[in-house]
Amino acid sequence: MNKATRKAVIAGNWKMNKTPAETTEIINAMKPLVKDADCSVVLCVPYVDIHAALEAANGSNIEIGAENCHWEKSGAYTGEISADMLVAMGVKYVITGHSERRQYFGETDATVNSRLKAAIAAGLKAIVCIGETLEEREGNKTEAVLGKQLEDGLKDLDAATVGALVLAYEPVWAIGTGKTATPEMAQETHAFIRNKVAELFGKEAAENVRIQYGGSMKPENAEELVRQADIDGGLIGGAALKADSFADLVKNALKGAGC
Ligand code: PEP
Repeated sequence: MNKATRKAVIAGNWKMNKTPAETTEIINAMKPLVKDADCSVVLCVPYVDIHAALEAANGSNIEIGAENCHWEKSGAYTGEISADMLVAMGVKYVITGHSERRQYFGETDATVNSRLKAAIAAGLKAIVCIGETLEEREGNKTEAVLGKQLEDGLKDLDAATVGALVLAYEPVWAIGTGKTATPEMAQETHAFIRNKVAELFGKEAAENVRIQYGGSMKPENAEELVRQADIDGGLIGGAALKADSFADLVKNALKGAGC
């Protein structure tokens, strides 16, 4: 199996943006623009927008995801949402370990691993984010950081489960900054990630796992990034907040994927 047999996955991450009414408006505008996309099209939205997103996306090829979930099934965790609750609503995907959660909310590889296990047990498709800071890249620590995030974040999972995951490589210095890793730089790191998955979980898991690039991906750079051998799509922040920019990005990414 190689890139041609891994279905590209383009996912928006709306972060803390958009009301339910805006959600309905954007998804209604987006639906006809992405309806023929031969890839997984996902929008991960704030919890309060999930209901509106599911209603607006109903019957379309857009799948709805959440931006996080808790590791317990239920209990005294004020303000939290469980994976089972998301599944009960009809949510299909969930992001775990986004760098903003690591940076602002004390997320660690251990909590990422707990959330991931809960998501998988509930039947959600998980997008697991990893990435190095600028300081780590400049200190030549990128591979050590990503290796540890993979070892600890995917701990105890079996090879088939890992093969079905979506990993998102997001260099922290490229998120929301307008700075994108060059396609060559991103490819080199994606190849490292795939090799590390092979070392930890075997060749088949490594060949199957889809690895997205994230960090200032836009319609203008999506094609070249997704053309790279080990880049299977993108996790998109800013450019996913408008129907036309997200649709253009999907279209261009698919050219890169050879679809
Ligand atoms: C993200 O939040 O995952 C992201 C990649 O953001 P942006 O596209 O805005 O850099």
